[in-house]
Amino acid sequence: MKLKTRHKSYGMSAALCALMAIVGCAGRISGQAQTAVKNDREPQQVEARVKTDQDIFDFHSGFWMNLHHFLYQQALAQKVAQGERLGRASRYADKVVSVDALNDGEKRDWAAALEHYQKFYVSRDLLGDEELVKINYRLAELENESALKQFGLPEAAVAALEQAAPAYRAHWWKEHDRINRAWIAVAASLVKKYGRGLSEQFASVYHEAWAKEPVRVEVAIYANWAGAYTTLRPTLITISSGVAAVQDYAALETLFHEANHAMIRAVSVAIRNECMAQNKPVPRDLWHMTLFYTTGEIVKRALAKDGQKDYAPYAYKQGLYQISPENQRYQRLLEMRWQPYLDGKSDFAEAMKQMVAGL
Ligand SMILES: [Zn+2]
Repeated sequence: MKLKTRHKSYGMSAALCALMAIVGCAGRISGQAQTAVKNDREPQQVEARVKTDQDIFDFHSGFWMNLHHFLYQQALAQKVAQGERLGRASRYADKVVSVDALNDGEKRDWAAALEHYQKFYVSRDLLGDEELVKINYRLAELENESALKQFGLPEAAVAALEQAAPAYRAHWWKEHDRINRAWIAVAASLVKKYGRGLSEQFASVYHEAWAKEPVRVEVAIYANWAGAYTTLRPTLITISSGVAAVQDYAALETLFHEANHAMIRAVSVAIRNECMAQNKPVPRDLWHMTLFYTTGEIVKRALAKDGQKDYAPYAYKQGLYQISPENQRYQRLLEMRWQPYLDGKSDFAEAMKQMVAGL
């Protein structure tokens, strides 16, 4: 799929929660994943697009996207290991991977690429930095192309990625691709089962039409400090297959949480208008907490209907509401004053008015 991008401005999703640990992923390997693993000599010919029998999300496991994010993560992890503090990202940097298996040339190339990422990128946010967002769109488009030159990427980034590519292909990519495809197999089966109903409910509750085209999802072994992030022109979800907090049913919620970043406009506008009407400052994160709460609640409800009664929505499970006094206050407001809307006992405008009144 060709991604039509407009590079001048980007809608940003604030990222997911702050309490993730990166661990290995367990899951079944799809037929395609087995092909990818066995096909040692021609890894380029494995399609990045993973065909699934649902049409809500369009899943990809792309070589360049994975290399780019892995380099970013490893560059960050090295800096953290050397004692540098890099804001919130520092807390989630995975450990530095061993390079013992690399030959001398590969080690040199890998180290040079990491140096480039350390110098230019790790102090910048993958979601908030315009150049990194542009790179993300371009690399998503490039899928598994054999080379990056002449694709409108910054020259130095092309050089670093191409320098690192042989070592990455030889030592990590097959395993990362296998994990990505296993994650996709699980996620796609859940989307097939629950996705249609969920997308209809989200369209109704958020007062926004659901996307006409399947929403593009780039699955990478590492996404960002939060485990997933989304940019909106066009909607592009980048999600980690290697984060414990985003597996199984939480993968279903997270996919819809990210996709719902494109559905949250009416909520954001209503919060702002209601705050103005009530002469209150607009709280910075209430729209995002409302997105967490609403998406989690509706996914929980769909699962409970199907007999899965013990699902804890992401924000509860990962302690997102406990991070700050503001979040605790938002949680109480959402439970007391927004929940009636989700239960059909109040309308959108009235619930919003009550919630803002409680700020
Ligand atoms: Zn979010």
